Amino acid sequence: MKRRIILSSGNEHKVKEIKRILKGQPFEILSKDEVGYKDFDVEEDGDTLEKNAFKKAYELSKLVKGIIIADDTGLFVDILNGEPGVYSARYAGENATYEDNNKLLLNKLKDVPLEKRNAIFKTVIVVILENGEKIEVCGECRGKIGFSLKGQNGFGYDPLFIVDGLDKTFAELSENEKNSISHRANALKNLKGKLEEIVDENNCYK
Ligand code: IMP
Repeated sequence: MKRRIILSSGNEHKVKEIKRILKGQPFEILSKDEVGYKDFDVEEDGDTLEKNAFKKAYELSKLVKGIIIADDTGLFVDILNGEPGVYSARYAGENATYEDNNKLLLNKLKDVPLEKRNAIFKTVIVVILENGEKIEVCGECRGKIGFSLKGQNGFGYDPLFIVDGLDKTFAELSENEKNSISHRANALKNLKGKLEEIVDENNCYK
């Protein structure tokens, strides 16, 4: 029987990305909504991605059996001293939309030339195993913040994030292209390695 991995996320874009990236692994991957916890939510009040990811995973692990995975992501812009960072979701205020956040970021960078618009997406993933053990991995992707929104795919800051070496925003890439290079993909690749280290070919903990 496949072990269950439950994603402590309600963001359907993320859930879809994570499912695609972990496809082929010996796990059944379910979102929290699919195991009956649609309304489960935690206040992301930590001052680091690690603290928020841990909180999201740990609180759900108290309620659901299985391997629990939570991620927290932030966009860190060099010239803004790492803003919006851990506050990426609510950069323009508590109920800010993706559009509000993108608008604010563009405003803050209004007179900044391209060579100074370096940014980095960081994802931290925390896993709580069924035996209570914790695993933490991270992944990054470097790029620059564009001068206007470009592309229709993805979500969040994707239309502003020009990936280093590609000259395209995340929103201009196909799902597969983004999933092969993104911060979340890099974190998940690290996670795959860790999961293979702890679970043997019979799906038992080593
Ligand atoms: P979360 O707390 O991990 O859900 O992410 C915080 C915020 O970062 C989200 O609300 C999005 O605005 C942004 N974000 C997270 N992942 C991505 C991504 O892959 N592309 C663009 N924006 C993202």
